[in-house]
Formats: sequence, C-alpha cells, structure tokens
Amino acid sequence: MKTQAIRIETTGGPEVMRLTEIDLPDPAPDQVQVNIRACGVNFIDTYQRSGLYPLTLPSGLGNEAAGIVSKVGNAVRHLREGDRVAYASGPAGTYAQAHNAPANRVAKLPDAIGFEEGAAMMLKGLTVRYLFKETYPLKSGETILFHAAAGGVGLIACQWARHLGVNMIGTVGSEEKARLASEHGCAHTILYRTEDVPAKVRAITGGRGVPVVYDSVGKATFEASLDCLQRRGLMVSFGNASGPVTGVNLGLLMTKGSLYVTRPTAAHYLSTDEEFNTAVADLFAVVESGAVKIPVRHRYPLSEAARCHEDLEGRRTTGASVLLP
Ligand code: NDP
Repeated sequence: MKTQAIRIETTGGPEVMRLTEIDLPDPAPDQVQVNIRACGVNFIDTYQRSGLYPLTLPSGLGNEAAGIVSKVGNAVRHLREGDRVAYASGPAGTYAQAHNAPANRVAKLPDAIGFEEGAAMMLKGLTVRYLFKETYPLKSGETILFHAAAGGVGLIACQWARHLGVNMIGTVGSEEKARLASEHGCAHTILYRTEDVPAKVRAITGGRGVPVVYDSVGKATFEASLDCLQRRGLMVSFGNASGPVTGVNLGLLMTKGSLYVTRPTAAHYLSTDEEFNTAVADLFAVVESGAVKIPVRHRYPLSEAARCHEDLEGRRTTGASVLLP
C-alpha cells in the first residue's frame, strides 16, 4: 500500500529528511502493520540522521510510535486488527503514516494511555526504567546526579526518582528548565552551563558525592561527572547529546576513586520477550498509577520533522516531542 513517510537518502543536517510517498509491503509473518497516530521523537533519531549511528541508506527514520494495528502477520497470535498499540524498535521508520513493526516488541496500550503518551513513553520510559532498576538499582533515600533533567528522558526520570524516594540532582540548561525539572520532582537543580557541577554536588551531599551519575550529554560533561562520584561509584554514560565520549584514560578511574563506568543501550536490557514484557508492565503500572506522567510538550505535523530536529538539537525543547502524521 502507498503511505507517506520521512526518508533520508544521505546523512547530514535536518534538511536531509524528505516526506515521500513509499510502497509499504504487507507485514512479514512475525510483524504487524500499524496505522500510526503519533510518532515519538528521540535524540537517537538525530544520531541516525547525522550518521553518528549508521543506518543502511536510503532509510526511514524514527524508532517510537503508537497507533492501531491494521494488518497482522500470519505467525502473530497475541495481536489483532484494531488493537491500540505502542512500540519502540528498529528498523528505523516510525516517522510515517504506517509502518511494519516486529510483533514481539509491540505492546497493547491500556485504555487509559493516549496515543501521544504511548508514542513518547516506549523508548524514553523503558530507558529510565532499566537505568533506575537494573543498571544501578536505586534505593529510597539515595541522592543521584542526572544530566539534562528537563529533556524527554529527563522529565520522566525526575518523576520516577521522586516515586522511588530518591533525591535527584538534575542539571539543566536554563532557569526555565530548572523550574520545570523541580515541578516534576527533581530535588535539586544545577545550571550546568554556568555553575561548577562537582562543587555543587559536593555541597549538596555534605562532601561525599553521589553513588551514581546518569550522563546522556557525553563529551561535554564526562570528566566533571566522574568528579561528582563517591569512591567506587558508577558512571552511567548513556548518550551523546554534546558528542560521543572517546579516548578515555582508564587511569582516571583509579585516581578519582576506583570508579566504575558502563555504556548501556536499551536493546541489551530488552532483548528477550520476558525482559520486554516485564519492563512494559512496570512502565504501564507507574504511568497508570499517576506516579509518572508522560510529558508530551511539543507537537509537529509529520511534514515538519526537520523543524522538530532543529528545535531538539538547538536545546529549545523540554520534555517529549511527537510528530503527528
Ligand atoms: P532530550 O529531550 O533530553 O534532549 C537532549 C538535551 O540534552 C537537550 O534538551 C539539552 O538540555 C541537553 N544537551 C546538553 N548538551 C547539548 C548539546 N550540545 N546539544 C544538544 N543538547 C544538549 O533528548 P531525549 O530525551 O530524546 O534523549 C536524552 C538522551 O538520552 C540522549 O542523549 C539520548 O541519546 C539518550 N538515550 C539513550 C538511550 C540508551 O538506551 N542508551 C535510550 C534513550 C535515550 P539542556 O538545555 O538542559 O542542556
């Protein structure tokens, strides 16, 4: 069938994205075809568009969406035409009116969760869940540092930390973002473009530092993040918003306190059906209870995907953004 989709022929800036009519084949036996109502936009999409995370070209873009199942592959048993669903999984291509998705990574959306929230929560929410429950299982009463606290992942993290009884110190790029992070449950904020982050973290923690830093900013914050950690603390480097971290001198981990570093990605925490189903049930439960509200704050027509990427990369967005086909 014919459908409209954002495609790229080459990597580069936002201008390489083009809204194009494509032929979408019927779903393979293990896929479902989804009539997309909202597409989640993630910083990862910008890495794939720019070439930092290579795609085979030409390619679609987008890794998160919600909509209604319109066709079901003949080996799929748990989903039916008409089901409301949400998902976050490759291959990239959710910036579209319709898309074929791997059925075992598609979740039925509870009635209480709308399409925009569904589209914005599967990658961002499942990421916060694995970071807080598996990469470093947080305990009530702990104080942690989380960078870019007013972003899409960040505003979910603020609320989930509060729900767990954790004091989150969040870094943010402006006063307005600091206010927003606080409103979402962030206990302390630091304006990392002007303030000395390690000094403030030490002041807040009585000189001890934090047991874990969650850092998705990457190159610009990596070393300062190490200086915020307690002895034998864990640095979780999970993104590259300012550029990738390269050429790390392992000796730094020794001199700064026998530190640990991990560079996780969601796929390795959601690789089996059991891991996926457990994580999704947990995410839906915190959202349905009202403890975490999915912060959809920007909406763009699908045709304006380029403007959306410019705003995201220009640090002009807060919370999550969605494209509406
Ligand atoms: P955000 O909405 O958080 O946008 C990125 C934010 O990073 C900006 O708003 C900005 O906030 C901050 N930032 C700091 N430096 C820069 C810079 N030089 N250029 C642009 N932004 C900068 O995006 P997402 O919620 O989509 O993703 C957040 C991060 O999480 C990304 O790095 C992403 O790659 C990562 N991620 C990792 C996953 C994993 O499994 N490893 C899965 C999902 C996301 P401010 O102005 O406050 O500094």
